[in-house]
Amino acid sequence: MRVLITGGAGFLGSHLADRLLAEGHSVIAMDNLITGSTDNIQHLIGRADFTFIRHDVTNYIYVSGQLDAVLHFASPASPVDYLKYPIQTLKVGALGTHNALGLALAKRARFLLASTSEVYGDPLVHPQREDYHGNVNTIGPRGVYDEAKRFAEALTMAYHRSHGLDTRIVRIFNTYGERMRLDDGRVVPNFIGQALRGEPLTVHGDGSQTRSFCYVSDLIEGIYRLLMLPPSEDASLPINLGNPLEMSILDLAKIINEMTGNPSGITFRRMDRIEGDPQRRQPDITRAQALLGYQPTVSLQEGLARTIAYFRSRVSVTSPSCHA
Ligand code: UDP
Repeated sequence: MRVLITGGAGFLGSHLADRLLAEGHSVIAMDNLITGSTDNIQHLIGRADFTFIRHDVTNYIYVSGQLDAVLHFASPASPVDYLKYPIQTLKVGALGTHNALGLALAKRARFLLASTSEVYGDPLVHPQREDYHGNVNTIGPRGVYDEAKRFAEALTMAYHRSHGLDTRIVRIFNTYGERMRLDDGRVVPNFIGQALRGEPLTVHGDGSQTRSFCYVSDLIEGIYRLLMLPPSEDASLPINLGNPLEMSILDLAKIINEMTGNPSGITFRRMDRIEGDPQRRQPDITRAQALLGYQPTVSLQEGLARTIAYFRSRVSVTSPSCHA
């Protein structure tokens, strides 16, 4: 297959590129690099089966030649990033999705949308199944991301129903691993960066809020299986992917401090918790298990160990915050 990945220089986009190339497909990665980085795809540059195009997909997308699949992964995805880029986040979810769908239609390519557990908002139903419609505050600080992705899902289904386009929607739950940015604000890189610098971990609120963390290779496996699934009505309906192992943010902080031997403990930052920060989040992956035979296999200890090793080489021991 010849595959376009929007957001191809991002955390998930670059891992997907690696996986597709390893399976013998060719990849065009497109990214405007506002939150992605060419560091993530440096090792692929120069390969005959890989092309990088710097482009903002909120503008018309031109790709010459045949395309078999369009994977739409372009978007700021961490709360800190989408608060910094609220309009870009809305535009890439709306205009970017429209352009990517239009391209897929013109090429008669399969389309896969990277959606999110944020479509469930601060959920009132637990764990979250795909048929739960969510609890989103349209005008809250997270609304820019949540509504962009909800619109993107609606537009994807409209293209599927009106144009018969072969589409897939994956709702991605918290995922971590190599190539996250140390400064992207998400809890795993934040905590590991702080721990490696010997600083206290900044737990927002009282840390009782929960998340369920999936290691990146498990998520990529699920996405690849979904992409390869033969077309059917079921394949086109949204599907949760993540790891159902739920834990509190406070417990995550304790585990990271223990694994890194950080002596500085934890500091509680009540004011740093962003309004609408979901209190509980856990995927129900029954549908993914049935449809894809999906089952995460990497334990939290193992995934964190790999991620810590990756960040260790990136955290400067002489960084100013170390002496603050
Ligand atoms: N969080 C935290 N300390 C940090 C960063 C995040 O306690 O330094 C909390 C945040 O308030 C949220 C959870 O960790 O409850 C997960 O946040 P993240 O930004 O990783 O993603 P989210 O799941 O909220 O989209």
